[in-house]
Amino acid sequence: MHEFDLDPEAVRRLGHRVADLVADHRAHLLERPVFGKVGEAARLFDEPLPQEGQPLEAVLDVNRRPLRVPHYLVQVVSHPPTRWSVVPRPERAGELPPEWGPHYAVCPSCRERAALRGRPRRLACSRCHGEFAVAWDEEYLIGV
Ligand SMILES: [Zn+2]
Repeated sequence: MHEFDLDPEAVRRLGHRVADLVADHRAHLLERPVFGKVGEAARLFDEPLPQEGQPLEAVLDVNRRPLRVPHYLVQVVSHPPTRWSVVPRPERAGELPPEWGPHYAVCPSCRERAALRGRPRRLACSRCHGEFAVAWDEEYLIGV
């Protein structure tokens, strides 16, 4: 027998102790909180709620640089878009041709940008050659 081996009686004793611990834990399971407080941020749950509103921000990775934007501008989706996204032209969009106007489109397949002439229902992408519907009915475009 190696010095780290346990004799059969010790294995039985430890096995019974583990079974007792599991049984005790399960017996009081419904009395425990739904989740434990783990990690540095856990203390935030014990702090009083703020009395005044605070801005909610999301941090986006834009070309490997953090960009803070208001939370209400961010929509988290579980699937990539299947239609052209209509994007309002940013104030400082020097790389976009001025003749593109107040909106442009982003291809759902390859992210190529394209001008929107009129209000097309479908567009073909000059880069990936896919043809997709244009998402004019997105909530953020209501009234456009
Ligand atoms: Zn494309």
